[in-house]
Amino acid sequence: MRNELKHYINGEWVASSGSETMDVINPATEEVIGKISLGTREDLDKAVEAAKAALPSFSNTTKEERIELLEKITAEYEKRKDDIVETITDELGSPLKMSEKVHYNMGYQHFSEAAKALKDFSFSEDRGGHKIVKETIGVSGLITPWNFPTNQTTTKIASAFAAGSPVILKPSEMTPYAAIILAEIFDAVGVPKGVFNLVNGTGDVIGDGISSHPDIDFVSFTGSVATGQKIMKNASETIKNFALELGGKSPLVVLEDADIEKAAKGAVNHIAMNTGQVCSAATRIIVPSSIKKEFEEAVLNVLPKFPVGSPREKSFIGPLISKKQWDTVQSYIEKGIDEGANLIAGGTGKPEGIDKGFYARPTIFTDVKNSMAIAQEEIFGPVMSIISYDTLDEAIEISNDTVYGLAGYVIGNNHETLSKVAHGIKAGRITVNNAAADFTAPFGGYKQSGIGREWGDFGIEEYLETKAILGL
Ligand code: NAD
Repeated sequence: MRNELKHYINGEWVASSGSETMDVINPATEEVIGKISLGTREDLDKAVEAAKAALPSFSNTTKEERIELLEKITAEYEKRKDDIVETITDELGSPLKMSEKVHYNMGYQHFSEAAKALKDFSFSEDRGGHKIVKETIGVSGLITPWNFPTNQTTTKIASAFAAGSPVILKPSEMTPYAAIILAEIFDAVGVPKGVFNLVNGTGDVIGDGISSHPDIDFVSFTGSVATGQKIMKNASETIKNFALELGGKSPLVVLEDADIEKAAKGAVNHIAMNTGQVCSAATRIIVPSSIKKEFEEAVLNVLPKFPVGSPREKSFIGPLISKKQWDTVQSYIEKGIDEGANLIAGGTGKPEGIDKGFYARPTIFTDVKNSMAIAQEEIFGPVMSIISYDTLDEAIEISNDTVYGLAGYVIGNNHETLSKVAHGIKAGRITVNNAAADFTAPFGGYKQSGIGREWGDFGIEEYLETKAILGL
């Protein structure tokens, strides 16, 4: 049992000013694995005060000093690998291999890439008539969700540290332990007092408090559209800067000349990875009518290669995060059936032989119309919708017929066609032919998928203000 009842404020572990606690549940076993303290506004105020006090000196550190700090953090993070992997498996239900290859690795990449990006980053530029100077934005508040406990926290922290911005982090109350390890890492490498503050708590108290705090200059949020809207409203009161990474309903366009087996495997991987709880997952698979039958067969053939089961055994698909998320996924599967989509795999209920844990059945719908709820709304579970098209223009039109624009995917063999689709999809990140993730490329959304960009040098920019100096 982990009973992490302290917050990390001003370089120390301190008790909460309130007495409320919350249980943390392992979604694979439904057992309570520990507790956290729910922070209060008083705790948040202390953290903001510490960050504000740290701002003048931290924002004045040299680029070289911050590179050194990020490199030390990367090395210490690497030392804590086993702990991070185990913790994410327990709090998120992520299969051990995925906790290592995806979750742990993303944090490692964000810290190491931020150090590299900083080496080439220019904070001032002489443009003849005037100078451009980039200065730290101030104190940053970071609010993160549960689905990638180290990815979203580390990309925000690494960029903030690279820009010289002290932070207050409020991770998801459902997956708080990976963030506690991060605090231990920062403590071990001697991150200056007040530069990193961790306040655990609920969205209503600490999250809301961050987005409305007059002494927080910038809020970086990852989570749902509904919470993003609340943050925008709160931030408007003090004209606070903000970046929002929200939901998605991303398309994967399969081209007529694509390798069908490869396309099917890629499509299933999207709904299987992290049990489909991925904001940028391709959940609408847009397939030419001419190869639809073959594609469906290929999907059904490859599906058993992604077994559902305990994250501590050789499974690929673990449980969903909570009973609430499980219920949501069930209700979308019911909606899909009611709306007339053709269910060819999975369905409601738990997978055969499993009764404990929030496990869902990987579910494939075909003959889906893009207007159906399962094609328009973010499900955040292992549910695929196959939609057919006849012309390339139609494929692009279907891809863009969504309020979201986080990511897009295309798979095929003709460069010109791939390029047409890649340029035609209105989304912040397009991946062609299952290209590997690139941590130096920006990540963020068009439309209701968000505002701003994270990762690499684009991420660092978010934590900076631009000043023009004339006549000097
Ligand atoms: P959520 O919006 O409920 O919670 C996210 C965080 O916001 C949590 O820390 C929560 O405590 C906090 N929060 C809740 N209410 C708040 C409030 N009123 N004010 C401030 N903070 C508040 O989202 P979730 O259920 O944890 O995560 C799932 C959502 O996140 C999905 O919609 C998914 O698409 C999105 N997401 C987006 C990205 C991206 O990069 N675009 C990445 C991962 C997840």
